[in-house]
Amino acid sequence: MPKHIAILGSTGSIGTQTLNVVKAHPEELVVEVLTANKNADLLIKQAIEFKPNAVVIADENQYQKVKDALFDHDIKTFAGHDAISQVVQMGTINTVVTAMVGYAGLQPTIKAIEAGKNIALANKETLVVAGDLITTLVKEKQVFITPVDSEHSAIFQCLTGEPEKIEKIILTASGGPFRQNSMDELKTVTVKQALKHPNWDMGAKITIDSATMMNKGLEVIEAKWLFGVHNKQIEVVVHPQSIIHSMVQFTDGSIKAQMGLPDMKLPIQYALSFPDRWNSDFPRMDFKMYPNLTFEQPDIEKFRCLALAFDALEKGGNVPAIVNAANEVVVEAFLKEEITFLQIPQLIEKAVNGIGFVNKPTYNDYVVTDSETRKYVSSLI
Ligand code: NDP
Repeated sequence: MPKHIAILGSTGSIGTQTLNVVKAHPEELVVEVLTANKNADLLIKQAIEFKPNAVVIADENQYQKVKDALFDHDIKTFAGHDAISQVVQMGTINTVVTAMVGYAGLQPTIKAIEAGKNIALANKETLVVAGDLITTLVKEKQVFITPVDSEHSAIFQCLTGEPEKIEKIILTASGGPFRQNSMDELKTVTVKQALKHPNWDMGAKITIDSATMMNKGLEVIEAKWLFGVHNKQIEVVVHPQSIIHSMVQFTDGSIKAQMGLPDMKLPIQYALSFPDRWNSDFPRMDFKMYPNLTFEQPDIEKFRCLALAFDALEKGGNVPAIVNAANEVVVEAFLKEEITFLQIPQLIEKAVNGIGFVNKPTYNDYVVTDSETRKYVSSLI
């Protein structure tokens, strides 16, 4: 039986790679829905090639273009953010790939779970903001989340067959483009430099998050919710070669690692094939080409964002949601060259201190936290 999938954010880095996986597995995967934010041209091209049941363009200004282009193709077309949340509930879908970026992924993910869909989760921001709500809902609806993030896929693979007796989870981090720069040099790094990740080719937001190491911080929070571990059971180690994608240490001291060349298609495919493992023709790793796999302690003085994320996890409540919203605003400002690289953690810290703490937030509290934080941080820029 093929899996019928919706890809939210099909025009992005994860979305396009997911479609490559679909192309390689036409018997196993059927595309039901594709969505994009603004990139109407690519969405139209993908729709004509993959013939989904429906497409959604979030930006309503692009709707007419999409509608006209797909008029003769028997594909339903919708516009607006609410349409994404509605379309994920379609009866024919069984798995939703959340490959959209940022907080915008939260509502459609909730709606998909409520409608009983399994989630192949790339959109880590959803778990960072509302991990408690999502994991409770997942249990209630008896659906499952398979992680797309390479680190979490690695942990998930290490835990397959023995999900308990975890002593700790060791998340590996490349360290980003500025691993070897001094604090002084970080004062003047440019957007162009920050967008040049040493090992991965990704969307702009996650690439900046990798440069600040906020990405690793968000992944720490994501790991807590995905694997149900305590904060103290998560460790980050810098591994610049990005060959070991992460590890699990069990209670007998044994460590399992998942390894491979850095290629997101592998974790995407595994998230869709699980519990099976499908064949692939992805390039294979040759150990002789990697005689030095190295490991370092992350420098949390230099990469303050990682420390802020660990603090947010410790404080709990709506603090991770504050950190996430503040981070989305400051990353956008950095990309527009409105702030410097080192202002990123400074402004996030101000938001944590400036926005009211909510201990046990409801969905509505998260919505309010997100919008208040955005307003507050924007006013500081
Ligand atoms: P991209 O920026 O490349 O793509 C984002 C996708 O989401 C695009 O299709 C974009 O549409 C759409 N989108 C953006 N904003 C909105 C919005 N407000 N409403 C609806 N759709 C929107 O991002 P990535 O693919 O790099 O990342 C996607 C997610 O996956 C992120 O959460 C990231 O952290 C995670 N991830 C990514 C990895 C990677 O290798 N790229 C690795 C691990 C996790 P449009 O093209 O029209 O703008």
